[in-house]
Amino acid sequence: MHVRKQRLLTPGPTPLYPRSLQAMMASDIHHRTEDFRTVYRAALKDLKEVLGTSNDVLVFCSSGTGAMEAAVSNLFSRGDKVIVCSAGKFGERWVEIASAFGLDAVVLKAEYGDVVSPERVEQALAANPGARGVFVQASETSTGAAHDVRAMAQIIGKTEAIFVIDAITGIGTMPLDIDGWGLDVVIGGSQKAFMIPPGLAFMSISPKAWRFAETANLPHYYFNLKKEKKSADAGESSWTPSTSLILALGAALQYIKQFGMDKLVENAQLLARATREAALALGLELFAPNSPGSSVTAIKAPEGMDSGVIVKEFRTRFGSIIANGQGTMKGKIFRIAHLGYFDFADLFAVIAELELILAANGRPVTFGTGVAAVQKVYAEAALPKATVVS
Ligand SMILES: *Cc1c(COP(=O)(O)O)cnc(C)c1O
Repeated sequence: MHVRKQRLLTPGPTPLYPRSLQAMMASDIHHRTEDFRTVYRAALKDLKEVLGTSNDVLVFCSSGTGAMEAAVSNLFSRGDKVIVCSAGKFGERWVEIASAFGLDAVVLKAEYGDVVSPERVEQALAANPGARGVFVQASETSTGAAHDVRAMAQIIGKTEAIFVIDAITGIGTMPLDIDGWGLDVVIGGSQKAFMIPPGLAFMSISPKAWRFAETANLPHYYFNLKKEKKSADAGESSWTPSTSLILALGAALQYIKQFGMDKLVENAQLLARATREAALALGLELFAPNSPGSSVTAIKAPEGMDSGVIVKEFRTRFGSIIANGQGTMKGKIFRIAHLGYFDFADLFAVIAELELILAANGRPVTFGTGVAAVQKVYAEAALPKATVVS
């Protein structure tokens, strides 16, 4: 027997920032008091700063999907034509929400592991001149692929449609210039790069998107953007908020502000690159080789091996929780996350564990091959040039 520490290495929930955990213990606070309003106002202000936008930013007490639903139910009307980019399980969630609320969705589908190109969005907008919105995932967590939201925004910005982005794993893993690129609605979630537990969703809303809220007629109650904005302006949440999570968020935002959002993105990008190089060095195949994102890397299980075995062995041998594939990708891929509070020490461990698991399952592995690839990426990025021997 060996000591096994549990390590959460999935693309949501992610490893927790220790000071946020400590902050949560102070949640014996009433939400309609000046004490809480001070905390809430600071969190909203810091969130805006970290997202780098002058648009309104609202917080909802729900998982990320709640904000996705809120965007649909508050900004559109029954029968509105919309264009939905669907490149994985989360793209399919947009399709399902749009359908649940009676929108007329033109679905641009990409194979799992692939992405929807900006050109296809342009063609779809030209073919559907009345389209009211375009929906996409910045980072499609189920496949590890990332969309080119900047190029898409340029196209959509010339039309009457609003651009609604599920950036739940895009925030903190890729540059997202909300104001500069014209990203109308940007959605985030607490259990991703914000390094706190699940239960909060975020949304930034552009003036163009607010105009949609004026005429939208779909039913909604709990998720009410206009009401939430009014509450937020008064330093409150419309309903009883998850005070513990707001306290956690405040602490995490202090860290992200101090560290720098651009550095957090760079960190994820570097870990993602190192993971890809390690996988290739070990003779493994990437699931989304053409448009890899930096929130998570999806790796194909070796021929003849179920990825569930790899995921299970990570847990039983080392206490490491990594993600299997979702839906039809289950059993075929495994996913290693990079977003939020992940560091190189985590990745050294994950790749060393992976080598041992492959060897334990009869795969030929030269120990250290994958780890060396990660060390090389670290060395090139962070050691003085003269010390790096390739
Ligand atoms: C995690 C995630 C969501 C939100 O899922 P919830 O379970 O509702 O938090 C949505 N989109 C993407 C791309 C995600 O990674």
